[in-house]
Amino acid sequence: METMKRTVTCGGLRGTDAGKIVVLNGWVHRRRDHGGISFINLRDRWGITQVVVDPVRKPELAAAAAELRNEYCVAVEGAVRPRPSGMVNPEMVTGEIEVDAERILVLNKSAALPFQIDEETRANEDLRLTYRYLDLRSAAMQKRIRMRHETAFAVREWMTSQDFYEIETPTFIKSTPEGARDYLVPSRLYPGKFYALPQSPQLYKQLLMAAGFEKYFQIARCYRDEDARGDRQPEFTQIDIEMSFAGRDDILSMTEGLMGHVFKKVLGVQLPARFRRLSYEEAQERYGTDKPDLRFGMELEDFGPYVEKGTFQAFKDAVAAGGAVKALVFKGGASFSRKQIEELEGAAKVYKAKGLAWMKVRENPARDAQADETPSPLEGGVAKFFGVNAAEIISGLGAGAGDLVLMVADAKRSVANTALGAVRSKLGRDLGLAGHDPSSPRFEFVWIVDFPMFEWNGEEGRWEAAHHLFTWPQEQYHAVLESDPGQVKGDLYDLVLNGYELASGSIRVHDPELQKRIFKIAGFSEEEAERRFGFLTGAFTYGAPPHGGIAPGLDRLVMLMAGESSIKEVIAFPKNSFAVNPMDGSPSEVDSRQLDELNIGIVKKEQGGNLQDERLP
Ligand code: ASP
Repeated sequence: METMKRTVTCGGLRGTDAGKIVVLNGWVHRRRDHGGISFINLRDRWGITQVVVDPVRKPELAAAAAELRNEYCVAVEGAVRPRPSGMVNPEMVTGEIEVDAERILVLNKSAALPFQIDEETRANEDLRLTYRYLDLRSAAMQKRIRMRHETAFAVREWMTSQDFYEIETPTFIKSTPEGARDYLVPSRLYPGKFYALPQSPQLYKQLLMAAGFEKYFQIARCYRDEDARGDRQPEFTQIDIEMSFAGRDDILSMTEGLMGHVFKKVLGVQLPARFRRLSYEEAQERYGTDKPDLRFGMELEDFGPYVEKGTFQAFKDAVAAGGAVKALVFKGGASFSRKQIEELEGAAKVYKAKGLAWMKVRENPARDAQADETPSPLEGGVAKFFGVNAAEIISGLGAGAGDLVLMVADAKRSVANTALGAVRSKLGRDLGLAGHDPSSPRFEFVWIVDFPMFEWNGEEGRWEAAHHLFTWPQEQYHAVLESDPGQVKGDLYDLVLNGYELASGSIRVHDPELQKRIFKIAGFSEEEAERRFGFLTGAFTYGAPPHGGIAPGLDRLVMLMAGESSIKEVIAFPKNSFAVNPMDGSPSEVDSRQLDELNIGIVKKEQGGNLQDERLP
C-alpha cells in the first residue's frame, strides 16, 4: 500500500513554517467548497490544519478532493503558505497558515456517520456509546481522555517522588465482600469454585504492608456488582495507597501533597497546602451531609432555642422527643412561590422528613401586614406561631428582609439534619450557588474525620462496618467496642471535593486479636471469619506493622477537574446506566461449550418461584 508518512501534526504549523513541504495524516473534519476551491479541515489528535485544493492549477486533485467525505482518513502532501490577509483565523493555533495540496491519498474511507464529529457530540448517550470510537474523536472527549492520562502520570510522578512503589495486586482473588456484591469468575480447573474480582485491593495492600514494602500505591481497577443506577460503573479506577508506620495526619498530608501536585501539573491550579477538616458530626450539624459542597454557605442552624417561646406544637414535640428543629436561611428566597417550596419539601421527604416548614422575612412589616394582624416581621407558613419572638429569630439566624427560612423538625436529630441538608444541596444545584463557571472552576476540598465505626443494619438486625472491617477503632473506644458499638468512632477519613466523596481511607487494625473482635461485632462467627479472612489475620501474627491508607477515585477526580458531572465523560469505554456496553453488547450469552467446560448450567427463575433448568442450546 502506498503510504505518505507524516512529517508534522495537524496542530504543529505556524506562520514561520511558510515555504516548507509537509505531509499531514489525519481525518477530514469538514470540507467546504468556495468558488470551486476546496477547503479541507484536516484533523488529528493535535489539532486542525486547513488544506486548500486549487482546481485551476490541479484539476485532477480537485476532482479527487470532491470525493472526500467527513472522517475519511487521508494523507496530504503540500506546501505551507501564509493565509491571504483577512483570512487569518486567530481562534486556531494553525490559523496563520494553510497547506496548498499537491497530493492526497485516501488511507481509508468512512461510511455515513451516525452523528457529526463536533466539538462535543450531541447524540444521545446510547448512540454515543454504540459508536464510542467516533464519539471519542470529538475535541471534548479527546481533551478529557488526555486530562485523564496527565492525571495518572502526575499521580505516578508524585508517588514515586515520595518513595512509593507501584505494585500490582491480582484481579482474580478470593471472594471477601467489602460491602457490595462481588463479580465472580468460575474456575474451569476446580468445578464449583470461583475467583472474585476485587472490589478494591484492600486486603492485598494490607498484606503488602505485612510484607515490608512500607509505601505502596497502584492505579487499580475495582469491580462492584451494584444495582445499575445514576453514575455508577461496574468497574472503576482508584488511586490505591497504603503506608506503614503512618498515622492519620501522615496520610492526610501525603494526600494533600498528591492533590496539590496533580492540580498544579494538570490544571495549573494552586491548591491550599492544607485542606479544611470537619468532624463527621460537625458536617452533619452544619451541612446535613458527610459530603458537603463548601463552595457555598447556607449552613444549617439550630432552631431549638426559639421553639419554647413559640406556639408550634410539632416543633415542641420534636424537641421533647430528644430530636431537633433545624433551620436554614435562604437569602432573597422570599420570592419563592408555594410550588417552589413544595418542590424543596419533596427533597426533604426523600430523607424521611415529615414536612418542610417555612416562613418569610417581610420587606416592610408595617405595610405588608394584613389589617387584622399585628405587624410581624415574619409571614407565611409557620410564621403565625412565632409572632412573639420573630425579631429574636431573625437576628439569631442572621436573616434579613426578603429571606426565606426553611425548617425541618424531627424526633430524630439525624433526620432533621439530612433532610434539611438535602434541601440545601437542591438549592445549591438549582440556583447555581456553587458558581459553576467552567472557565474558572473552584475546588473546595474538605476532610471529614471521626466517622462512626459501625452502623446498625435494621433489616438484618446487626452492626456492620461503616467503611470496612479493617478500620482501626479510635483508642479510647477499645474498652467499649462490644458494649456500645454505636458510640465507637473509627480512625476514618473521607476527602470531599465540591460535594463529592473523592477518597475514603482509614488507619487499619494490625492486631489480629482486635481484628477478631471486630469480625465478631459485625456478626461473623469465628469459623466464618477464619474461612474468609484467615489469610489476613494469619499474616498479622508475624509482626505486621501499624499501617493505614486511602483510595482517591481516579474517575471522579478527573470528572471534577474537567468540570463534568458524570464519570462516563472521562472513561474511554464505560457501560451505560444499565451496566450494558451497547458497543460490544456485553454482558452477553456465551456458547454452551464454554458453559460445559466450566460445569455451569443456567437456571432461570420462573415467575412463581419454580426453578427451571434452561441450558442454552
Ligand atoms: N479500600 C477502600 C475503598 O475502596 C479504601 C481504603 O480504605 O483505602 O473504599
